[in-house]
Amino acid sequence: MAFAFYNTFGREKQQFKPLREQKVGFYGCGPTVYNYAHIGNIRAYVHHDILVRSLRRAGFDVNHVMNITDVGHLSNDSDDGEDKMVKSAEERGKSVLEIADFYTEAFFKDTDKMNITRPTVVCKATEHISEMISLIERIEKNGFTYLAGGNLYFDISKFPSYGDLALLKLDDLKAGARIEQDENKRNPGDFVLWFTKSKFENQALTWDSPWGRGYPGWHIECSAMSMKYLGEQFDIHAGGIDHIPIHHTNEIAQSEAATGLKPWVKYWLHNEFLVLDKGKMSKSAGGFLTLQSIIDEGFDPLDYRYFLLSGHYRSQLRFSFESLQGAKNSRKSLVDKVRGLANRLGIQETLINADCVPAVHTDLRGFKEKGNEEISKYIEGFDRAIEDDLNTPRALAEVWGLLKEAPATADTLAAIFDMDRVLGLGLEDAVKIKNEAKINENNDEQEINEQINKRIEAKKAKDFTTADNIRQSLKDRGIILEDGPAGTTWRRM
Ligand code: AMP
Ligand code: ZN
Repeated sequence: MAFAFYNTFGREKQQFKPLREQKVGFYGCGPTVYNYAHIGNIRAYVHHDILVRSLRRAGFDVNHVMNITDVGHLSNDSDDGEDKMVKSAEERGKSVLEIADFYTEAFFKDTDKMNITRPTVVCKATEHISEMISLIERIEKNGFTYLAGGNLYFDISKFPSYGDLALLKLDDLKAGARIEQDENKRNPGDFVLWFTKSKFENQALTWDSPWGRGYPGWHIECSAMSMKYLGEQFDIHAGGIDHIPIHHTNEIAQSEAATGLKPWVKYWLHNEFLVLDKGKMSKSAGGFLTLQSIIDEGFDPLDYRYFLLSGHYRSQLRFSFESLQGAKNSRKSLVDKVRGLANRLGIQETLINADCVPAVHTDLRGFKEKGNEEISKYIEGFDRAIEDDLNTPRALAEVWGLLKEAPATADTLAAIFDMDRVLGLGLEDAVKIKNEAKINENNDEQEINEQINKRIEAKKAKDFTTADNIRQSLKDRGIILEDGPAGTTWRRM
C-alpha cells in the first residue's frame, strides 16, 4: 500500500516513506493522568490506533510508543497555573502517585473497551527523569538555555525555525503575550525545561538535578522518552490539534537543539477536536463526558468507535446522543449482517472450534486469481481509502458495499474480517460471542438478575470496579446490560 498522510509540518499531503525499510517509529502523546479521559481524548487514541492498525496490516513493523504524564503538566500548557497532578491529588486527599496509578488503570480500561491496541511501549514521565536531565544538559551545552529566577528556560530566539510547525512568527508571539507574563522569561514564547523554584511550596515530587532540586517542564518528557525508545530521528508523531502551537512546537525546538539541529520527526499528524453542542470539552474544566457515562446511557463502547470512524480524523466532529444512536443502529445492522453471513455459511462453529480465521486470512490476497473480482474491487477501494490519509468514512462505505454487493461466500466474510483489522469493530468476536451465547442459552436468568442486583449494590457503595467487572463478565458471556431511567435491563448480543 502507498500511504499518503497530511503532514502538519508543511500543511500538505505527502507520500509516506519511513526512515527505515518496512519499520515505523511512532510516538503518540499520551494522557495526563489526573482525571478520567474524556471522550474527546479517546478520539485522539482511536486515531493513533487506526494509524497503527493500518500500517501493520500493510506489513510495516510498527514500534508505537506512548507516554503517561504523571508530573509537570501545569493547567496552562505554557507554564502557567497549578500542576494538574498535584491539584487533583490535593482535591481527592490522595498522593500524586496514587492518583496517577488510579487514572492510568482507568485509562487502559477505557482504551481496552474501545478495542484500541495497546502501544508497544508505555512510558511514565516519573520513571524517565534521568533521561530528561541528560537531554536538558545537551540542550544547555549547545547554548539554547538560560537560568532565571531559579528555573532553566529554553531560549526560543536561539532556535532558527521556532514555530514552523504552527506557522508562528516570533513577533506574533510577543504581540499575543498575556499580561500576567512570567517575568523571568526573556521572550513570551520561552518555556521551562527544569523548575527549581516551584510556584507551589508543597510540590509533591522533586528530584536532584544540575540546576537544583526540582522537577521537569512538561514538554521535555516527550522528547526524552521518544528518543530513548525510537532514536533521535523517527517517522511519525501524533496528538490533538491543541498541541500544535505550544507542546509540539516546543518538543521540536528542544529535541533539535539537543541533537545539533537534526530533523527530529518526519510526519506530524494531528486529529481535530470532538466538540459538544455546547462547545469545547475540557478535562480540567470538568463537566465532560467519559466513556462510562455513555455506557451508562446504554451504549456499547464500540458504538462510539463506529461514530468516530464515520468522521475523518481531520474534521471537527460534533458529539450528540442522537448521532451516537445513529452509529449504534448502523453498527448493530453491520454486526447482524456479518453474523447472518457467517450463519448462512455455517461458519460459526468452525470459527470457534477450529479457530480457522487465520487460515481464511492467508489466501485473502488471492481474490482476483480466484475470480473474486467483486470482492477484490471492494478490498482495493478500502485500501485506497485508508492509504489516503486514513479516510475511515470512505473505508466504512466499502465495507457496506462489499456486504451488499458481493456473493455470500467465505471469501467475502474473510474480506470483511480483513478490513476490520483496521477498523477494529470486533466483527470476528461478534460472530464468536453470538455463537457462545447460543451454546449457553440455558443460562439461568435468575442468576443474571442476581448479578445485576449485585452490580446495583456495588454502584450504591461506589465500588465501581466491582460494578464494572460484573458488567464485563456478563458481556463476555454475550449479555449486555442497559441502564435506563427505569433501571437496568439485559439482552443477549
Ligand atoms: P491530555 O490528557 O489532556 O494531555 O490529552 C490527551 C490527548 O487528547 C491529546 O492528544 C489531546 O490533544 C487530545 N484531545 C484533548 N481534547 C480533545 C478533544 N476534545 N477532541 C479530540 N482530541 C482531544
Ligand atoms: Zn507530548
